[in-house]
Amino acid sequence: MSETPAHRCDVAIVGGGMVGASLALALADTRLQVLLIEAVPARSAAQPSFDDRTTSLGNGARRILETLGVWDQITRHAAPIRQIHVSDAGHFGFSRLNAGEHDLAAFGYTVSNRHLGAALWQGLERSGRIEIASPARVLEAAIGPELAQLTVQQPDAQRRIEARLVVAADGAHSLVKQAAGITSSEHDYRQVALVANIRTERRAAGVAYERFTHSGPVALLPLHDGGYTAVWMLAPERAPAMQHCSESDFCRELQQSFGWRVGRMLQAGQRSAYPLSLVRAETSSAGRAALIGNAAQALHPVAAQGFNLGLRDAAVLAELIAAAHDPGAPALMAQFAQRRAADRRGMIAFTDRLVRLFGDQRRAAVAARNLGLLLFDLSPPAKRALSRLSWGFGDSLPRLARGLPLLP
Ligand SMILES: Cc1cc2nc3c(=O)[nH]c(=O)nc-3n(C[C@H](O)[C@H](O)[C@H](O)COP(=O)(O)OP(=O)(O)OC[C@H]3O[C@@H](n4cnc5c(N)ncnc54)[C@H](O)[C@@H]3O)c2cc1C
Repeated sequence: MSETPAHRCDVAIVGGGMVGASLALALADTRLQVLLIEAVPARSAAQPSFDDRTTSLGNGARRILETLGVWDQITRHAAPIRQIHVSDAGHFGFSRLNAGEHDLAAFGYTVSNRHLGAALWQGLERSGRIEIASPARVLEAAIGPELAQLTVQQPDAQRRIEARLVVAADGAHSLVKQAAGITSSEHDYRQVALVANIRTERRAAGVAYERFTHSGPVALLPLHDGGYTAVWMLAPERAPAMQHCSESDFCRELQQSFGWRVGRMLQAGQRSAYPLSLVRAETSSAGRAALIGNAAQALHPVAAQGFNLGLRDAAVLAELIAAAHDPGAPALMAQFAQRRAADRRGMIAFTDRLVRLFGDQRRAAVAARNLGLLLFDLSPPAKRALSRLSWGFGDSLPRLARGLPLLP
């Protein structure tokens, strides 16, 4: 009995979450034959990338999404962050950063992952240029010198795929990363992010709050509808109690931690918990495999940079392969890893330092961070550095982030 022939394509993207779907959309206008393989359909309530979280998008991410033609749809559900208020519970330092002082309309924009996911997937459907396999789960991957081979489980059959490039966009514990032989390190922060949408006495009006407390940082991000998304980092021992307690107990405890800057906390919606680690691949490519998004690096959300960084991974990869005769050529992949190295290194170090600095209760660290917050408040260069986080640590911006199409 003969075996069904393998399906061939130029680029197979494994994972159609926020970063994989963005890459697919970026490649829609190229001549490459692209197959996007996603285990959980985008419209399913169980889709793990497009859940009830809220993502802060920096100006660099906004520009990329504009160039991809999906910003108009996203902006209908987005809230601008015009001011960032950083404070430290029980200490005198606090900092207010105003976008206007940096000639920016906003530092960034918050949008729910569901709306972001819907905009990306509707963009893909509209383009009609990307082949989509979903629900379809990659079970095995083998990265050879000429081709990458995938075994994919679909509801009715198993399928074999051969691609010249396989892109790992399948999250922090990526199967493709392992198949490519790329090792990664993992540091458990021993914190859980508890996320809930809340209503407060005072409506959100463009201010994002970050407060460092004894139990861990609390962020309140303004939402389009006047509420906030609360992201509360807790010790793993305390998180289950806060996740499952009554709504009124939750509001009271959060209020105690955060304080009264937004008035009384009145209501809280569904609470979801995310254990936090730094997962970092040693490199972002090997042979015919490239890693983007959480497959390359999964960050603590304290600085809200994970997706922003992953989107730049996608934008740079798309630019490098858009016109390539062989998109998986190992030399091109090495170039990709090299172009992403500085941005990855800078953003990982920045985020990790922030977590460690504000997680350390020893006296020296307390003094240092209060001083640090004061400096932030007083020193324009420090503020400018923060606002530039929007654009990444790399030397050169990808074309999409400069508002240019992939191909000149
Ligand atoms: C609480 C919290 C708040 C955050 N806030 C922000 C923020 O404000 N700003 C920001 O920039 N970042 C933020 N982040 C980070 C951001 O959410 C992630 O960086 C982003 O979701 C990564 O997207 P991804 O597509 O790389 O991976 P994922 O979201 O993990 O998606 C992976 C996809 O791959 C699919 N998949 C997995 N295995 C397979 C397989 N074998 N076959 C087929 N498909 C597969 C999955 O179904 C999934 O759809 C936050 C993270 C957390 C936890």
